[in-house]
Amino acid sequence: MSRLSPLLKQATPVVVDHALGSWIWGIDGEKYLDFTTGIGVTSTGHCHPRVVAAAREQTGLIIHGQYTTIMHQPLLKLTDKLGEVLPLSLDSIFYANSGSEAVEASIRLARMATGRPNIIAFHGGFHGRTVAAASLTSAGTKFRAGFSPIMGGVHIAPFPYALRYGWDEETAVDFALRELDYLLQTVSSPADTAAFIIEPVLGDGGYLPTPPRFLEGLRERADHYGIIFILDEVQAGVGRTGKFWGYQFSSVIPDIIITAKGLASGFPISAIAASFDLMSKAWPGSQGGTYGGNAVAAAAGVATLEVIRDENLVENARIRGEQLHEGLQNISSGNSLIGDVRGRGLMQALEFVTEMGEPNQSLASAVQQAAVAHGLLLLTCGTLGNVVRVIPPLTVSSEEISSGIQRLDAALKAAQGV
Ligand code: PMP
Repeated sequence: MSRLSPLLKQATPVVVDHALGSWIWGIDGEKYLDFTTGIGVTSTGHCHPRVVAAAREQTGLIIHGQYTTIMHQPLLKLTDKLGEVLPLSLDSIFYANSGSEAVEASIRLARMATGRPNIIAFHGGFHGRTVAAASLTSAGTKFRAGFSPIMGGVHIAPFPYALRYGWDEETAVDFALRELDYLLQTVSSPADTAAFIIEPVLGDGGYLPTPPRFLEGLRERADHYGIIFILDEVQAGVGRTGKFWGYQFSSVIPDIIITAKGLASGFPISAIAASFDLMSKAWPGSQGGTYGGNAVAAAAGVATLEVIRDENLVENARIRGEQLHEGLQNISSGNSLIGDVRGRGLMQALEFVTEMGEPNQSLASAVQQAAVAHGLLLLTCGTLGNVVRVIPPLTVSSEEISSGIQRLDAALKAAQGV
C-alpha cells in the first residue's frame, strides 16, 4: 500500500469533506473556521459560486491547450483584468503555475536583462522551495539545508526587523540600508548585481511588514545602479493587506511584480509582470512551460478578480483587518508571552516570547494546536517558528472575525493552562 511522504509536516489532523466561504467541514463531522485559507490562497473564500461557475464552464470548453501552442481566451482576459490593477508601466505578463516558478522566472529575466549574475535577497524572506527560489530564502534552514550546492550568486542582506534588534523602526531601517550599501561596496558590486528581491510583508518569515522607507531606499539604489527591483507579492498581493498590492503602502513602483496564491482562489496559476521593454531584454524563448497559464485556472483568475472588484473585497480586507488587529490586541493585552501583534489587513500575526523575551516556538505551536480543538484553523510562521498567523479569506464577515477572536482567546488560555 502506498502512502504520503513522511516528510510532509501536517499542521492539523483535519481531513476535509467540503468547504464554503470561511468554513471547512471535516469527515469527522466537525466544522472549522478556516483562517489559513490554504496559506493565503482562497482569497474569495472556499468555492465562491462565481469562481466555481467559471471553472465549471471553462472545463467544458477547453481544459489545456498549452499557451505557446495555442492561445485561449481566459488567459487573454486575465491579462486584461490584471492590467486594471497593475501599475501602467508593468504591461507585460508571463504566467506559470506556482510562486516558486514565478520567482525563478523573475530571476532569469533580471539576470538576462542586466547581464549581471548576483541577486540580493533579505534576511527572513521566503521565496519558494525550488533550488533557485530556496537559494533566495532565509526564513529557516529547513528550506535550504541538506541539498547544497544551492544556486550561486545570492547574497542575503539584513531586513529591518526592529523587534529582533530591540530598536525602533527608523533605527532598524537606517541600519539595514547602511548594511546594504556596505554589501554593495564590499561583496556584490553594483556592476555585478542584477536584482533586489523582497516581500512587501515577510510572509513565512513572520508576517513582518517591510517598512515603506526601506522599500523606498531600495528603489533609490536600484535606480542609481541599474539594479532590477523585484517585489514578491505572492503572499501579500491580491488585496490581502487591504490594498491591492502590498508595496502600495510605500511610494515605490517595482520593476517586476510576482503574484500567485490569491490570484485564482485556489487554482494553481502565477505570474510576473514587467514593462514590455524589460521583458524584451531577455532571450526569446526563455519563458514557457507545459502547464503555465492553464485555461481553467485562468478562468478562475478572471472570476476571482471580478469578485474582488464587485464585492469590494480589498476594502473589506482593510476594514475586517482593523477589526482583527484590534481583537488580537485585546486578547493579548497584559499577556507577557505575546511580544508583538502585527500585520496589515487580513495578514495578521501574534509573536510569542518567553518570560525572558526569547522566541517561544513551543507556545506558538501549542496555541495553533489548541485552536484546532476550538474549531479554528491557524498556521505558525516566523524564522524561529514562534509566530501564529491569521489569514482569513477576503470575504470574511464581521461575525466570523469575532468568532475567530473568541476561539483564539480560548486556545490561548488552553495552551497557557489558565
Ligand atoms: N513567495 C512567497 C512570498 C511565498 O509566500 C511563497 C509560498 N509561501 C512562495 C514565494 C512560493 O510559492 P509556491 O509555494 O507556490 O511555490
